Amino acid sequence: MTDMLPPGATIGILGGGQLGRMLAMAAARLGYRCHIYEPGAAPAADVAHAWTKAPYEDLDALRAFAQTCDLITYEFENIPAPSLDVLAETTPLFPDRRALETSQDRLTEKSFLAGLGLATAPFAPVDTAADLPTALATTCTPAILKTRRFGYDGKGQARVMTPDEAEAALATLQGAPAIAEGFVRFSREISVIAARGRDGTVAAYDPGENVHRDGILATTTVPAPLPLLQRTDAVLIASRILNALDYVGVMGVELFVTPQGLVVNEIAPRVHNSGHWTQAGCAVDQFEQHIRAIAGWPLGNGERHANVVMENLIGDDVTRAPALAAEPGVQVHLYGKAETRPGRKMGHVNRVTGPA
Ligand code: AMP
Repeated sequence: MTDMLPPGATIGILGGGQLGRMLAMAAARLGYRCHIYEPGAAPAADVAHAWTKAPYEDLDALRAFAQTCDLITYEFENIPAPSLDVLAETTPLFPDRRALETSQDRLTEKSFLAGLGLATAPFAPVDTAADLPTALATTCTPAILKTRRFGYDGKGQARVMTPDEAEAALATLQGAPAIAEGFVRFSREISVIAARGRDGTVAAYDPGENVHRDGILATTTVPAPLPLLQRTDAVLIASRILNALDYVGVMGVELFVTPQGLVVNEIAPRVHNSGHWTQAGCAVDQFEQHIRAIAGWPLGNGERHANVVMENLIGDDVTRAPALAAEPGVQVHLYGKAETRPGRKMGHVNRVTGPA
């Protein structure tokens, strides 16, 4: 076992949203303090020791932040690479820069996955409209154009049903460098949440089935209704990815289930919304698992003791929280966000539906 971060040490978290909040609570349980770095509103700061409110490009603020931290992690992947370099001058960063850079850019990410021999949608870069004919020859139509960077919850995407729609679809991405992806005809979307420790140990949770509404995750159900062989396959794919990146921490791997097998959609180098079910389904949830991994603790084994349905509370859904809390077997998590807005993740519930 590598050196364990001693109790009382400070973990820096880049990003102050609900993922940072739940990480900070898990870190506190293991005896750590957290310092949040977040330029905007920070529900994580409500449960942390300190908060630096500064832009991700403010190198002086980043340096001062890093000085106060024994190690640094993130809950948000759109951090500029030069900022990471400044942090890493003084303080260990987990997951490392390579993991972040691989997942920040869809072209780098897809090339990395394909390079491991994993199945992905056919893809090609689209920098300008002149690239469209070649790209669509690779992907065929229907296809999806996606911005290479800064996409989330289905934003920065445009469907192309026929080649003559392609230019107009690309124009909606407002000149951002993009990739074209062939449309995958999937029967289900699943994800695997997996962790790798500083000593290289890997532990994965059971795959969950994800259902999206308006491009936003609505529910995750475990177990995903898959044959055992495919559940194992999903876990093996996640392990391959973690090992190839020499990764430290928790990662979310999103996959499509197709008649030809599993197709990797994307990876997130952080705790993931589709892993919230672990709070009610496992002895060690994804947040504690991430803190254990980065702080050099033994990992939880990922075993699931319950069947769970996680439901996000989006926008006004949050008003249902008291009624949901009255139902047996329902665990309520609210993120402490001051303002309710349509499409905003306000909380989630984990409903235990039976023993595993
Ligand atoms: P993403 O931001 O890449 O996770 O895409 C958001 C959602 O769009 C996914 O969860 C899928 O439902 C859908 N999607 C993304 N890429 C593809 C694809 N290549 N083929 C079919 N559906 C896709």
